[in-house]
Amino acid sequence: MDILDASAFIPTERILLGPGPSPVPQRVLRALAAPTLGHLDPLYLAIMDRTCTMLREVFRTNNPLTFPVSGTGMAGMECVAVNLLEPGDEVIVGVNGVFGTRMVDVMARCGATVHPLETTWGDTFTVDQLGDLLDARPRVKLVGIVQAETSTGAHQPLAGLADLVHERGALLVVDAVTSLGGQELRVDDWGIDAVYSGTQKCLSCPPGLAPVSFGPRALAAMDARKTKVQSWYLDVSMLRKYYTGGGGGGRVYHHTAPINMTYALHEALAMVLEEGLDARIERHAQMHRRLRAGLEAMGLRYLPRHSLHTLNCIGIPAGADDAGVRRRLLEEYGIEIGAGLGPMAGKAWRIGLMGHGASVRNVDLVLAALEKILRA
Ligand SMILES: *Cc1c(COP(=O)(O)O)cnc(C)c1O
Repeated sequence: MDILDASAFIPTERILLGPGPSPVPQRVLRALAAPTLGHLDPLYLAIMDRTCTMLREVFRTNNPLTFPVSGTGMAGMECVAVNLLEPGDEVIVGVNGVFGTRMVDVMARCGATVHPLETTWGDTFTVDQLGDLLDARPRVKLVGIVQAETSTGAHQPLAGLADLVHERGALLVVDAVTSLGGQELRVDDWGIDAVYSGTQKCLSCPPGLAPVSFGPRALAAMDARKTKVQSWYLDVSMLRKYYTGGGGGGRVYHHTAPINMTYALHEALAMVLEEGLDARIERHAQMHRRLRAGLEAMGLRYLPRHSLHTLNCIGIPAGADDAGVRRRLLEEYGIEIGAGLGPMAGKAWRIGLMGHGASVRNVDLVLAALEKILRA
């Protein structure tokens, strides 16, 4: 049976408490529906410039080269990798879940020799573990690490890593897809050289753009390239002429910017800054604690030792039907949560409290619904 009937072209509203996308506020959806401008119209360029300015605030960086890449979070990962790496480069990537595994794949496709720093899924890395591997691999050009491993809910601390990496002349690259706008992230204070994120997690914007930021060390590495970036679409040396007007010739057409998605991101970022970044991060912390208290009172257990606030990964209790529980949440309550991935498939549920979704109403609703379903 086709699940779309003739009257279902307007999707019903779900409560998105999975690993992303997160619920999108009406204000952002309305912005998406504003009249489409030309991508070189001064009016559009002003909106884009302000979007980049707000992105710098949310990333807590002064990096001039901060802009939304066309594409989802994976395009951000790929953009950072293809621009910083050349064939033969050596890199270290922290692998403790799906997204570290993907970073290995993406960087290996750039021709890099990848030295994975592995740990059990759900665990995080210590400064000492990274230091030991850096000592063993002195030619490493870049260290890639995931701050918020959405596949396991593990929260990787970043403070202190940059000094270690910079002492060896390497770059620190961070995946902040599920942390930007929801968990503490300080690009400049923490010495992060390149960072990427996505719109549909804690920024509560539809999927489609990948905010990225490159610091001075990353720029120097790009300037020192001996080979062309093998991706035409994601080549920052061309993209920056459009996004920052840099390169002398003013704004230059590269590809048509996703105009209406930029409106949506502009509105979503304005909402982040209206709430206040600190207040928003604190709201995510409070909602996490509220959810955690309720889940643990029901006898459910968190799997990662250091849990994110934005993604709560819990063990499926003995006897519960993984897919059946998720289906009932979706069909009876309109609530989406995530399944376990990789080694956690069938063993974990992932409850996202991201952006607009991190509210008392949603926390209490998912707790009540889970309790009813599990008791049955
Ligand atoms: C969601 C996610 C991505 C990929 O983003 P897409 O928007 O799905 O392309 C990358 N890294 C992490 C940590 C994520 O949670």
